[in-house]
Amino acid sequence: MAVKKKRKAPAVENEIINLTNVSKAYSTGAPALKDVNLHISRGEFVFIVGDSGSGKSTLIKLLLRELTISSGYINVMGYDLSKIKHRKIPKFRRNLGIVFQDFRLLKDRNVYENVAFAQRIIQKSNKEIKKNVPSILAIVGLAGKYKAKPRQLSGGEQQRVALARALVNQPTILLADEPTGNLDPKNSWEIMKLLEQINENGTTVIVVTHNREIVNAMQKRVVTLRRGVIISDEEKGGYIDED
Ligand code: ADP
Ligand code: MG
Repeated sequence: MAVKKKRKAPAVENEIINLTNVSKAYSTGAPALKDVNLHISRGEFVFIVGDSGSGKSTLIKLLLRELTISSGYINVMGYDLSKIKHRKIPKFRRNLGIVFQDFRLLKDRNVYENVAFAQRIIQKSNKEIKKNVPSILAIVGLAGKYKAKPRQLSGGEQQRVALARALVNQPTILLADEPTGNLDPKNSWEIMKLLEQINENGTTVIVVTHNREIVNAMQKRVVTLRRGVIISDEEKGGYIDED
């Protein structure tokens, strides 16, 4: 008689991200992540901090399934990412929003089109696009800028467009890799406050940042990486001085 496999109970309540003993090595150099254990619940706001080269972007790329782990176990939103079939990856990514330091907007398209593009990819109807794009642009404070091209916008405005694009498909998880890295302090705060607001509306938000002042002020969970190892993981944490 076949033995029924027991289902593993989730390690934390409402777990949406589970990394268990995850290591990631590139073909060259020391492993970028070593034996990482990270559990994130639905609706959390988590900062990922650490020196340059500590493995933050590698972690984000593993969560997006842009990279695969070398060993361990990774599950995001119920998808076992070391086993997921290639044809299922687009459906998986549909539930993720992503924002980068360098905005990555379509330079020849205006604000409206940059955001609408994300909806067209998932085959939203024109009627829905006409409703959703203005509503998200109003949330990020760009209601008057539909026609502007990226080069006509400030860095802060460009990052708001990128944020609107990441949010318009209502992702379950928003990942941001140094979203304020190219912004002045005022715009950095405004973007972080928007991320907080998005989190308060139910989205799980994970933010990689070097912004010590903001991390210390916001009193969120802080995961600190050093040379590929999680050296601390604290609720209402602060920025750990490495110097
Ligand atoms: P962070 O985002 O914290 O600056 P990364 O995750 O980008 O760190 O990099 C972690 C380590 O992995 C670094 O030592 C980096 O040089 C290395 N690394 C990153 N990407 C690659 C790659 N594509 N090939 C080889 N090594 C890489
Ligand atoms: Mg990085």
